[in-house]
Amino acid sequence: MAGDQPVWAVAGEKTVTCGHCGQGWFWHRRAVMSSSTASMFGVDAFSPEAALLSCTACGRIELFEPRALTLRHPEG
Ligand SMILES: [Zn+2]
Repeated sequence: MAGDQPVWAVAGEKTVTCGHCGQGWFWHRRAVMSSSTASMFGVDAFSPEAALLSCTACGRIELFEPRALTLRHPEG
């Protein structure tokens, strides 16, 4: 089921790796931000939707525009 498997992600033709531990497996969540949350992240000029990638190893969260992200599931 979607969301139960870790994914690879590609953004800007580059594989996303964790900014903390450097590995490349993430849990994916698609979130709709409230305007206050968007302001907190400084992205209120953009879509209120965000793709959250949570590192399966260390838990660091990377934040992307959903349309900029391509997800690769292990089973294809
Ligand atoms: Zn990590």
